[in-house]
Amino acid sequence: MSKIIVLMGAPGAGKGTQARLLQERLNLPQVSTGDMFRALKEAHTPLAAEVRALMAAGQLVPDDVTIRVVRERTAQPDCRNGYILDGFPRTPAQAAMLEKLAAEQGKQIQAIEIQVPLELLAKRMVGRRNCPVCGEIYNIYGKPPRFDNVCDFHPEAQLLQRADDNANTVQARLTTYEEQTRPLLDYYKAAGLLHVVDGTGESEAIYNDIVATVSAHG
Ligand code: ADP
Repeated sequence: MSKIIVLMGAPGAGKGTQARLLQERLNLPQVSTGDMFRALKEAHTPLAAEVRALMAAGQLVPDDVTIRVVRERTAQPDCRNGYILDGFPRTPAQAAMLEKLAAEQGKQIQAIEIQVPLELLAKRMVGRRNCPVCGEIYNIYGKPPRFDNVCDFHPEAQLLQRADDNANTVQARLTTYEEQTRPLLDYYKAAGLLHVVDGTGESEAIYNDIVATVSAHG
């Protein structure tokens, strides 16, 4: 049966980095609600303005909007053989919707938690930079580019910092995670669908653990 790989973990745990690596290996698309909302917030619509304000405050986009976006994206032909969810679900209502969607699509959910202690997360987020051309993710503390502030693959491109990776918003995002998203780990654990990997090491080691976990569980 085709799979829905759900990457779980706090903001800054490395879900986006791992999803980018996994999509090539598994030949499944990465479906990132954060990336979709970052694209959406650039539009000149009332919804875009609402999303922009919520993201800047470290709060979640409402469930009805998020669910609609995921439903539409995963109905695309490239998701037919499965997909990798990065940043969804984040609330119990979203998890319930995903269960229904998986049943409708005839897919099996496999949740993987990338576990990182709380005290490491804020530094990781504040240090995060990405290339505006290829999306490569760097970290000025953990994984710096070869030359200061430019992409290894696109030397013409200055790296960018996400608007919500500032100290204030980071704290709000961590609180939102603790209150609304962490309880989902128990839900997946109780359903026997959760696998945990240590997210504190090098991204390649974490990637290898995730690949081993995915292969070991059919
Ligand atoms: P991170 O996991 O590092 O916080 P994301 O890129 O996944 O970053 O998310 C950025 C922001 O986008 C969130 O703080 C939230 O406002 C919004 N968002 C992303 N995914 C969801 C979701 N599933 N439900 C509601 N809001 C979301």
